[in-house]
Amino acid sequence: MEIDEAREVRTTCPYCGVGCGVLAKVAADGQVSVRGDPDHPANFGRLCSKGSALAETIDLDGRLLYPEIHDRRAGWDEALDLVASTFSQTIAEHGPDAVAFYVSGQLLTEDYYVANKLMKGFVGSANIDTNSRLCMASSVAGHRRAFGSDTVPGTYEDLELADLIVLVGSNLAWCHPVLYQRIVAAREKRPEMKIVLVDPRRTMTADIADMHLAIAPDGDVALFTGLLAYLGQHNALDRAYITAHTTGFGQALFAASALDLASVAAATGLTEDELGRFYSLFAATSKTVTVYSQGVNQSSSGTDKVNAIINCHLATGRVGRPGAGPFSVTGQPNAMGGREVGGMANMLAAHMEIENPEHRKRVQRFWTAPAIAERPGLKAVEMFQAVADGRIKALWIMATNPVDSMPDADAVEAAIKACPFVVVSDVLARTDTVRHAHIRLPAAAWGEKDGTVTNSERRISRQRAFLDLPGEARPDWQIVAEVGKRMGFGEAFSHATPSEVFAEHAALSGFENDGARDFDIGAYAGVDAEGYEELAPFQWPAPGPVQAGRQPEEGGQAGHRPSSIRFFADGNFYTPDRKARFITIRPTVETRTSPDYPLILNTGRIRDHWHTMTRTGKSPRLSQHIAEPFVEIHPADAQRFGIGDADIVRVSSPRGDVLVRALVTARQRQGSLFAPMHWTDQFSAKGRLDALTAPLIDPVSGQPALKHVAARIEKF
Ligand code: SF4
Repeated sequence: MEIDEAREVRTTCPYCGVGCGVLAKVAADGQVSVRGDPDHPANFGRLCSKGSALAETIDLDGRLLYPEIHDRRAGWDEALDLVASTFSQTIAEHGPDAVAFYVSGQLLTEDYYVANKLMKGFVGSANIDTNSRLCMASSVAGHRRAFGSDTVPGTYEDLELADLIVLVGSNLAWCHPVLYQRIVAAREKRPEMKIVLVDPRRTMTADIADMHLAIAPDGDVALFTGLLAYLGQHNALDRAYITAHTTGFGQALFAASALDLASVAAATGLTEDELGRFYSLFAATSKTVTVYSQGVNQSSSGTDKVNAIINCHLATGRVGRPGAGPFSVTGQPNAMGGREVGGMANMLAAHMEIENPEHRKRVQRFWTAPAIAERPGLKAVEMFQAVADGRIKALWIMATNPVDSMPDADAVEAAIKACPFVVVSDVLARTDTVRHAHIRLPAAAWGEKDGTVTNSERRISRQRAFLDLPGEARPDWQIVAEVGKRMGFGEAFSHATPSEVFAEHAALSGFENDGARDFDIGAYAGVDAEGYEELAPFQWPAPGPVQAGRQPEEGGQAGHRPSSIRFFADGNFYTPDRKARFITIRPTVETRTSPDYPLILNTGRIRDHWHTMTRTGKSPRLSQHIAEPFVEIHPADAQRFGIGDADIVRVSSPRGDVLVRALVTARQRQGSLFAPMHWTDQFSAKGRLDALTAPLIDPVSGQPALKHVAARIEKF
């Protein structure tokens, strides 16, 4: 690659679901610098600490640069032939469900598309699931139950237009910092904007909240079911909207009304006064956005939480209107793009449903595929259990580190170690997962590959390469396509460029779609390499012709569509009768604590690290913010268990233990602990937190309950 000092490449941050635009430049001496893209509609030039340190994380130290078979260097042909022949042989001997792909929200949409196509259309199994299952599967399930489709109705602009923002289980200040900054800036202009934080912890986000409801873990269903009852009792319903655009209201309200305020207070740990103040504020503020994230999704009642929130918005007609709506913010950079191409075990590509025979036939027809998965595959937790009990005999893990990030991580590690054939394609040579692979395939990293990602407001942006591929690394889509060819499916995997993959994905979204499905980017079906290179960020749906020309208010990039495309403003949804569905919910309170494990451990993120630190761990600057793993504990609990501030403590669950530093703080809720998920044994002596978490899942979405783990603490 020639170095052009004057040229900045427009790309997108690879961390969270805000999806900020980044300008990256390679200087004559090879030094890379990054800055926020002032023209990108997600961030308008802002970057958070992680995004601004991207240049510090892209060295080749620790990179996997060549294919390896059983710890020896191999050629690509030998490695790919072995992957293809072993998968083919396993399928021939044991059937298509004996193989599986476990993929990642770090993959680009093009990577996801090719992997999903190979597994669902050509292997004929739906055993492809993703670490996004750990991130937002409950939102997907809640959207589909209420709207008939996995649709985020609103846009980031709604956060600035709202008069009330309710943040539920979301530490936006640390986990989606640029959205937080946009809200702070909007409130400086409109100080009357109110912010309510619903979170067991007094996180940094609480510092801008007018009201912090320190809710009991998993009290959210009761909180929002109680709110629905309150809206009914206080004449705060939009009855015309309910009648015209929804079904199931009477039953949902009847069930909610069984819950009196005292019961809600008991279930949430909040006072009746706190509940009354929140409920009256919600009822009185028509421009309300409810933002929710992992505190909602990572729960054994995650889908019910999502629907309890959506119920309240439907009851007040606050969906898809400027400054109003339920709003799921995704943790990963491309959790949304993965959903769009069906990169989950229970979805088909282009938001079609695997349970729908018409959808299956349509996708198979489009792909001219020899097969199509007939039923949902194994979701993440089930998938590793199937690896453990031998049902899955060949596993390909792409761009993720489940040995550290899956719940019950020790059991997952044991399963992978015992699996007869494990392929890992990754950027790094020796993560805790890569170590156990029989075949290691070097993948291209951020800055080296081209593709697209979709952020939390449905905006598709390009990631662009500005560095040469190191060693023999290849983009993930190409690696999977090469295996597809070697398995005998050459024609279907003959894409020469990521633009060809994107064009096919766009064509499928528009295929036999006359507005019957939400996801449609058919306007891009004919995009060529040049158009793909120039692709400016756009929101879906985009079924019609691409708007040509420059739109300065959008930042001046060619091909921009208007910002702030909202869904459901007309009250039409994607259910068969086009009406949104209220979901009847009855809150249940689950006790997981016991005399041996009397505390509830909540897991999450810190500001400056990402997932298992494979990228951010390279930056000394990011590691300075918080240098070691810790556990937050309330002063009263610290006293009860004889813990002093900064003591080294052992936190244990029935599955395992970690040694971390105690941080005694009244920000923590009494009876609960909080510890970050990032540290692995690579970065700390014994800090691998997911060795403690349980494989307990939401029964609808399959998302693990990573925020509610029975635990105990003792001084080490
Ligand atoms: Fe990257 Fe998210 Fe930070 Fe934006 S807010 S710079 S997308 S980590």
